[in-house]
Amino acid sequence: MTFSVHGLAVSRGIAIGRAVIVASSRIDVAHYFVQAEQVEGEIERLRHARNEVSAEIVKVQQSLHELGPADAHPELTALLDVHLMLLQDEQLTNGVKHWIVERHYNAEWALTTQLEVIARQFDEMEDPYLRERKADLEQVVERILRVMRGVTSPVAAGQPRPGQDSAVAVPLVLIAHDLSPADMLQFKQSVFAGFVTDVGGKTSHTAIVARSMDIPAVVGARSASQLIEQDDWVIIDGDAGVVVVDPSPILLAEYGFKQRQGEVERERLSRLKNTPAVTLDGQKIELLANIEQPEDAVGALKAGAVGVGLFRSEFLFMGRNGKLPDEEEQYQAYKRAVEGMQGLPVTIRTVDVGADKPLDRVAQRAGEEHLNPALGLRAIRWSLADPAMFLAQLRAILRAAAHGPVHLLVPMLAHASEIRQTLALVNRAREQLDAAGVRHGSVKLGAMIEVPAAALTIPLFLKHFDFLSIGTNDLIQYTLAIDRADEAVSHLYDPVHPAVLHLLASTITQCHAQGKGVSVCGEMAGDVAMTRLLLGLGLRSFSMHPSQILAVKQQILRCDTTRLQTWAQTVLAAEDPAALMTD
Ligand code: PEP
Ligand code: MG
Repeated sequence: MTFSVHGLAVSRGIAIGRAVIVASSRIDVAHYFVQAEQVEGEIERLRHARNEVSAEIVKVQQSLHELGPADAHPELTALLDVHLMLLQDEQLTNGVKHWIVERHYNAEWALTTQLEVIARQFDEMEDPYLRERKADLEQVVERILRVMRGVTSPVAAGQPRPGQDSAVAVPLVLIAHDLSPADMLQFKQSVFAGFVTDVGGKTSHTAIVARSMDIPAVVGARSASQLIEQDDWVIIDGDAGVVVVDPSPILLAEYGFKQRQGEVERERLSRLKNTPAVTLDGQKIELLANIEQPEDAVGALKAGAVGVGLFRSEFLFMGRNGKLPDEEEQYQAYKRAVEGMQGLPVTIRTVDVGADKPLDRVAQRAGEEHLNPALGLRAIRWSLADPAMFLAQLRAILRAAAHGPVHLLVPMLAHASEIRQTLALVNRAREQLDAAGVRHGSVKLGAMIEVPAAALTIPLFLKHFDFLSIGTNDLIQYTLAIDRADEAVSHLYDPVHPAVLHLLASTITQCHAQGKGVSVCGEMAGDVAMTRLLLGLGLRSFSMHPSQILAVKQQILRCDTTRLQTWAQTVLAAEDPAALMTD
């Protein structure tokens, strides 16, 4: 039966495919396709792991037996029996085989997919005893996965997307309760053609990474992961924020048509790649790229970006179980980005972890649930709390600057003392490199304006920095007191709230008055609905995901900034600016 689930549209386009439901706790399991000739080997790998787990359990049973009569440990003995039984359970073994043989999933993926199918059935059981067996099944699967982790599949590398070298060409879309930004990044090279999550706001970092992947995505779809079943056909409408489940043939045809229209539109836009971004009245506009990984430089150049306006370096730090990248590893990564941009400037932002970008999968430690991470030890606060770590990053960035133009950008500054400490550490990092005779380059220094306190004290920032970059995602979050990752208040997350517009306008005006560069690198910069307003407010430098550059450029080519300037002043003075946005 067809039904639809509504959420927030975060990444445009239409994806049509079969649902793969992934439990949040098992997102780090590898997802890739195996070729037809590898299917038997994959089944054998699973059988081997299962036998090993069986042998482990039998061994524990024997040692218990040696310790005394079985009835001395009745509960443990019964539990081990249940685990042995579950290992041989036909629904599990046959189901897993089905996913490998029919869909060519790798063994781990097949196993967790079947686990989700059975877990749902357990959830629906009336009998509480049987319902609880779900935990046993999860433990058994966890044990098999642990054994398999030690024996990686020979085909794990170079995981193909559906349709590319893959034996199975059915597109797949991922449905999960929640995905952390690091999880999302892991899926960048994966097989999925679209994403849906139950939670998340439009400018949450998970949404931002989805956007950078340029595939349709919907977040904040509430109970999508409960309502949608494994293998259901779904349509993700990333423009409208709608997920259609089990679509009728008519709907499939309709969305298939929209999908093709989207492809034609992209094709058309791609012709603008080499067209300079100049308005009708001759204003040159700088279009820069936001990237998360050095390899994204390729996409940035392909989209015609004239530099990187924001390299979110924290993605090098996340999902590593607390083992942070050292100076050398960071230097190599920054150097790759700089070389990848072939002489164009790269703005490297110092690490911005915390809030909805936790270092590890566990966002908050036990006992800290009452704290608000968005207001805690985040971004520059985190860096200044660990000067040795921060110095290592600064040295790595300065060294990368020897390979091409680099701008160093500092997130979330608010206090004069933070500015002083940061600049002192940049100098110290330089001195350390000089003392060690290590080659490094000069950098332009920039500050992000993303806290109202910073936006209200721009002269202080202009005194110390070469350029400013407005992080509207956070500036909106902190001005309006709206958690950007919380879909429950996403309707109040308003980029054109008069307070936000005033902070934006005054920041831009003050920078221009001092002849200093200013750009916007929040999601607003890549939103075509905002292009006219930002131009009217005087903005001439925009930084966004490469996938958004051509659409924004198309808008720019149609604009006259003189006319927009007058209109923007009306919007700025309005009680309800949103009502004037379509004028
Ligand atoms: C912002 O806050 O607008 C920004 C660009 O930084 P991030 O989204 O990484 O917090
Ligand atoms: Mg920010």
